[in-house]
Amino acid sequence: DPRISKISSAIRVIPNFPKPGIMFQDITTLLLDTKAFRDSIDLFVERYRGKDISVVAGIEARGFIFGPPIALAIGAKFVPVRKPNKLPGDVISEEYSLEYGTDKIEMHVGAVQAGERSLIIDDLIATGGTLCAAIRLLERVGVHVVECACVIELPELKGRERLGDKPLFVLVSST
Ligand code: 5GP
Repeated sequence: DPRISKISSAIRVIPNFPKPGIMFQDITTLLLDTKAFRDSIDLFVERYRGKDISVVAGIEARGFIFGPPIALAIGAKFVPVRKPNKLPGDVISEEYSLEYGTDKIEMHVGAVQAGERSLIIDDLIATGGTLCAAIRLLERVGVHVVECACVIELPELKGRERLGDKPLFVLVSST
């Protein structure tokens, strides 16, 4: 698809952020490019429209940028999956391991119902730990996770393997 290369070049890479050795994929420059930003949303919408998806679960923080326009376009609700202690209502949470220590994500109780079909969206998959935790969170309450979707995949970190047989769709692979 000719749109992909434009999306790829609109993503800025910032070396040594947030720490030395990390090549940070910065999607804020994609948001400045109105054509490339729209194309990235359209590519997801083209894939998920008509798939009977009633939930788009977006992961804080950049899943909150891409998730809502996709949700509106396919007629699904948007459910924020947040860092700990941000959501004001009752939550269910899921822990996951980081390089050092653990982190947690949370979702409001009652945001989704058993039997619903969900897409999970984030800007980027690295090790896949965040998406795995989000899958567990949704599946615990009986939601069927149809697929995970990201703008960017870092294939060297093998996050796709960590997702097992859960399908992953990405726009751009970054080496
Ligand atoms: P994982 O859990 O797959 O190791 O890490 C993915 C999470 O970290 C995502 O929520 C993503 O937003 C964030 N992340 C890690 N590295 C980068 C990066 O280079 N650029 C951006 N935009 N996000 C990153």
